[in-house]
Amino acid sequence: MRDVVVDPRALVATVAGGARAMDVAVAAAAHDLVAALGNCGTIAIAGLTFGGGYGPLSGTCGLAADNLLGAEIVLADGQRVTTGPDAEPELFWALRGGGNFGVVTSIRVRLHPARDMLAGSVIYKWNETGTVLRRYAAFAATGPDELGVPVGLMSGPDGEPVVMIAPLWNGERCQGERVMEDVQALGTPLAAQVGPASYADMLDQVDAWVQAADGCHWEIRTCWLPALTSGVADAIIAAMARATSPHCSVFWHHFHGAATRFAPDAAAFGLRREHFMVEIIAGWKPDGDDGVAHRRWAQDLRQNLAPFALPGGYANLLGPEDREQTAWAYGGNAARLRILKRRFDPDGVFASAIPLPEVSL
Ligand SMILES: Cc1cc2nc3c(=O)[nH]c(=O)nc-3n(C[C@H](O)[C@H](O)[C@H](O)COP(=O)(O)OP(=O)(O)OC[C@H]3O[C@@H](n4cnc5c(N)ncnc54)[C@H](O)[C@@H]3O)c2cc1C
Repeated sequence: MRDVVVDPRALVATVAGGARAMDVAVAAAAHDLVAALGNCGTIAIAGLTFGGGYGPLSGTCGLAADNLLGAEIVLADGQRVTTGPDAEPELFWALRGGGNFGVVTSIRVRLHPARDMLAGSVIYKWNETGTVLRRYAAFAATGPDELGVPVGLMSGPDGEPVVMIAPLWNGERCQGERVMEDVQALGTPLAAQVGPASYADMLDQVDAWVQAADGCHWEIRTCWLPALTSGVADAIIAAMARATSPHCSVFWHHFHGAATRFAPDAAAFGLRREHFMVEIIAGWKPDGDDGVAHRRWAQDLRQNLAPFALPGGYANLLGPEDREQTAWAYGGNAARLRILKRRFDPDGVFASAIPLPEVSL
């Protein structure tokens, strides 16, 4: 179920429930269009959207969830329902960030014109990380909506950590070229490859990194940071210096621009202030390794960032054990979500990895 049918006049894609982000990006690009997707081509658009969906176009197009126009869903009692702003609107509200309500067989997604797109990656020397992150924080606070700038701290080819910025620009060409120069001037690039690229090219690049770690086991922790303060930078840099494996990394997405201009109760995804969504990733090859040290590494960094973090966290990266964060993951939308869960799935048939908070109603 990976079909994607694009209506270029209506700027809408009808996407089967199992389609991957890359399927959508490629189909949209054939019409010079883009969809608000994440940074990875192999994840499916359904799970991405139902949890929220951070990506480099969040600044101009909002989250993936903000671009959901409707869905066909099979509910727990077997009923097949069409939902959208005018059909079962409460269910539609819940799907945009709350997930967990049924089996979605197809979704309708808003598309946007692809403008002059520039993308790539810039890698800086590790000994400049503090400076690069300080400059990046100032740059992100004032940067244009057209720029998405995810950042990653990871192991370089020689095993030493590096800091990498993967900018994606979707806007006016000359302004984009100037902004990309500013990105490269955040430090002394060890390597920089930025230029005209499609969204699918960017996904390809990230998919290649993910594929390089095939066979690993993973522990992922997450938090929301309101700002990248020096305390945050110090905690992350210290953690990378004692990473337990070459597959340990820390990434963050910048939530800004269009994504912040929705009311917190417009959809189940409730955090609409500017923030950074942090992914703390520990990966290890399982042969003879029980993973304890790597899990501990990720948990320790999550704990060390807690004093700087907002309550809650990105539902798509929380697990059943993250009860405290889950309680705050939907902000003021938690009770409404729970009521809808009781209405549409009273027996809890759909108990997915994406947790819903326990709230007393
Ligand atoms: C390598 C990698 C990169 C990532 N990058 C990003 C990123 O850039 N931005 C971001 O926001 N997140 C990112 N994530 C997190 C990602 O959004 C979540 O892992 C998401 O849940 C993946 O969805 P899936 O459908 O691929 O996975 P699945 O494990 O198949 O689904 C996850 C959950 O989504 C729901 N779901 C999926 N399909 C359906 C359906 N058809 N009907 C009903 N419910 C469904 C279910 O609740 C299911 O348990 C990344 C994850 C990985 C592993």
